[in-house]
Amino acid sequence: MSNGFCWRCDGPISRSLVDRAAIPDAFVDLLPVKLTCERCATTYSSVVGGLVLGSAPVISFHHEHGIDSTTTPLWELS
Ligand SMILES: [Zn+2]
Repeated sequence: MSNGFCWRCDGPISRSLVDRAAIPDAFVDLLPVKLTCERCATTYSSVVGGLVLGSAPVISFHHEHGIDSTTTPLWELS
């Protein structure tokens, strides 16, 4: 779903930030995101960092700073 397609039906995914008022203070900085399939309505929750971690610019940025973001857990990246 983070690649823009539903894992159940291959339908397109819409993304929206979760309303900050609905997030406990400890999690606000993670920027939670709600992913919804526009075809079958399957929903999934993630965080902005998780959605961009696999993109080429983010992988390249980490590589230039000596970090292999493809093997480093998201929670260990600042
Ligand atoms: Zn779907």
